[in-house]
Amino acid sequence: MKLLDRQQMESLSRFKSEKFLTTSFFLNTDKGHLSRKEILVAAKNLITEARTRMDGLDLGKDIKASLCRDLDNITDFCSQNMTSNSQGVAVFSCQGERFWEDIHLPHPPRNRILFDHNPYIRPLSQILGRYHRICVFLVGRQSAKWYSVLMGEIAPLDTLANELPVHDKEGDFDGTSVRRIERHVEAHVHDHYKKASQRTFDLFKKEKFDWLFLGCEDGFFSDLELFLHSYLRDRMKGRLKAKPSDRDDKVLKEAVDLEDQLNKAAEEEIVRRLVAELEKGGLAVSGVKETLRRLNQVEVQTLVVTHNFAATGKICPKCRFLYLDEAVCPSCQKATGPVVDVVDEAIESAFRSHAEVKHITPPSKLDHYGKIGAFLRYKV
Ligand SMILES: [Zn+2]
Repeated sequence: MKLLDRQQMESLSRFKSEKFLTTSFFLNTDKGHLSRKEILVAAKNLITEARTRMDGLDLGKDIKASLCRDLDNITDFCSQNMTSNSQGVAVFSCQGERFWEDIHLPHPPRNRILFDHNPYIRPLSQILGRYHRICVFLVGRQSAKWYSVLMGEIAPLDTLANELPVHDKEGDFDGTSVRRIERHVEAHVHDHYKKASQRTFDLFKKEKFDWLFLGCEDGFFSDLELFLHSYLRDRMKGRLKAKPSDRDDKVLKEAVDLEDQLNKAAEEEIVRRLVAELEKGGLAVSGVKETLRRLNQVEVQTLVVTHNFAATGKICPKCRFLYLDEAVCPSCQKATGPVVDVVDEAIESAFRSHAEVKHITPPSKLDHYGKIGAFLRYKV
């Protein structure tokens, strides 16, 4: 099934088995950047690595048998489901309880397999965080149309027709009645825009969208702004060229492009602020090593990380501190162990300490600062 909303995620997170563990599997299947073969090889390597890891776990026979069947079914699923257009897949499986959920994702996740008591849903929430519930409001002199756009999909919400008054223009010498008729028509159009704005607010109360994209003639834009409820003005993030008579796919393309642009601008703004803070020696750090050090000290307010950036590292088995290359934990003197992806652990650690995590789509200026950085809580 498709990734839909937080509700779906929450119902997944409620699954828990008393007897068995659940396998969570994430695979990047972005065919724009990866060939089908590369995707299958990545899946195979992930599953092989997970089998080795599972064999090393100290678990009961039944629990291992269930995990083993999870991995077998995931292997089958991968060989059969690599033709879809989704950018990623997530599978949550607990065969001991006959539980299975596969989800097609609109954005590539970080490849991984986890065994835990519950489905691991954080990557889903990261993906959902990228998308907004958008209302597209297109209005012309004779009609208005509304769409909902979410995660690259469009659905019509409502339409409104405005019939212009028809007048007999004969019997007029000085143009007075023509002007009177024009005024009458304009008043009628004005009324239509007002009605359409009110309808937008009614839809907002029902649909609770995050963003509003507006398509209208330039001449009516300032009027419309006045008619729109202040809640809607706050949510209005941009204007579209689309008209009510345009095809759905054209409207969708324009709306998705604008959403991408707005996301990109927001990401650039975060990186710009981070770089400014770094350059003035303020409350920020960059690079894996320094960022991990500050995470260990619970000083990170916002972790800023390049999307799907990964690096091997070390973890202290006692204090769970993360390091890039320390063989011995400087804090407790215990020998550290390897972690496949210390960036992923860093994201987890940030969540545990209630820090925000911002993902930046590469390439960006963050690449020049070690692909990772953080805003700090206070000056040390
Ligand atoms: Zn330690």
